[in-house]
Amino acid sequence: MDTISLENRTRSAALFEEAKNYFPGGVNSPVRAFKSVYGPPLFIKEGQGCRITDEDDHTYIDFCCSWGPLILGHNNAKVRDLVTETVAKGTSFGTPTRLGNELGKLIVNNNRYIDKIRFVSSGTEAVMSALRLARGITGKSKVIKFEGCYHGHVDSLLVKAGSGLATFGESTSAGIPRAFAEETIVLPLDDRKLLEETLQKYSDDIACIIVEPVPANNGLLLQDPSFLECLRLKCYKYGVLLIFDEVISGFRVGFEGAAGYYGIQPDIITYGKIIGGGMPVGAYGGSHEVMSHISPDGPVYQAGTLSANPVAMAAGYAALKQLLEPGFYEGLEAKTKRLADRLQAFALRHDLPMHVQQIASIFWLAFTRDRVVRADQIDAASMEHFKNLHRELLRRGVYLGPSGYEVGFVSAAHTEQDLDEAASIMEKCLHMVFK
Ligand code: PLP
Repeated sequence: MDTISLENRTRSAALFEEAKNYFPGGVNSPVRAFKSVYGPPLFIKEGQGCRITDEDDHTYIDFCCSWGPLILGHNNAKVRDLVTETVAKGTSFGTPTRLGNELGKLIVNNNRYIDKIRFVSSGTEAVMSALRLARGITGKSKVIKFEGCYHGHVDSLLVKAGSGLATFGESTSAGIPRAFAEETIVLPLDDRKLLEETLQKYSDDIACIIVEPVPANNGLLLQDPSFLECLRLKCYKYGVLLIFDEVISGFRVGFEGAAGYYGIQPDIITYGKIIGGGMPVGAYGGSHEVMSHISPDGPVYQAGTLSANPVAMAAGYAALKQLLEPGFYEGLEAKTKRLADRLQAFALRHDLPMHVQQIASIFWLAFTRDRVVRADQIDAASMEHFKNLHRELLRRGVYLGPSGYEVGFVSAAHTEQDLDEAASIMEKCLHMVFK
């Protein structure tokens, strides 16, 4: 098999050098800089189906899928056609549009967990607005989040646990006023006792609990459904709102996201990624009552110049319509499970310290022998294995997101043949990494 040497990424390397003149670290989102893996970042010029091609004309089977939005793969024909048709009539009017209605209707009519939705332009914006809504409804200000869940770069959520259990958070970024971080309480996932104690102590100040019901930003920390049910019950008990951050899981683990997958009704759900069909769209939704607090109906202000932009609505509509086709999610899940099972069997056969975590069309390679459910169970030293694996995979034409904490996504465009090809390459590379 021909391999692509790192030295052959000459055009990507040159473009990256140039980009450093314009952008901090040469990028517009930090993990794209390839700091945790070898070589310069790939500059991608084209994507078709499950493959992407870089500026050096190397093609890769892509498991990043633009960090999750591309559940149909790259350049899906129906998405492209509706986007081109729409863009030919103008890109933005700052008014309501019929296409916005179409997408709103498609979502609300096929999701039992929300009655109304508000479109914004990113996942971060959705989460930020959801927090404001929860605070506006409850008149309380503190938020509980969980270690290992990511919710975008919202000030009060770029926070990790302070010293001692259930203390108020410490920011993980410069530029966040201490007062903001102190509004956030960070708890470990799956610690029901600490959750109960915290709610007992602070529930008069706590507006909401926010959780990624499928935590997929720090590895794939799949939770026991009973933990999510426990969150729901405790929120009812203590008069706290429950926010499911479904920016990744929404439309990924099913059309109704994790709420539908687990059969749990949160108070507010946030969406992003898939909802925009590859365009910048986020959203948040809830019951009629919850959403009646949003302006102009209610006192919680939230607005956006490009919210529900027609081109983005077209992409979202054309994408989501395809997800409703019978058997869509079952087929995708079956393919992904087959890949995950094959890699897991390989690891067992060769006694490799690797556990393949998978749900629906999301997978993650944990370089441990056991299932990982909390952030503190991830061995940071094992990321060295990922770094080496990433290099070998790139040399052989498989692209995973450039960090061992990132999950992989399988799209409808990955055929079983593509997945078999990728699995063979992965096995070969795992051999090399662990030899
Ligand atoms: N919430 C979750 C669960 C996410 O995974 C992300 C992004 O990865 C966000 C929020 C932020 O979304 P965006 O990057 O669109 O601002």
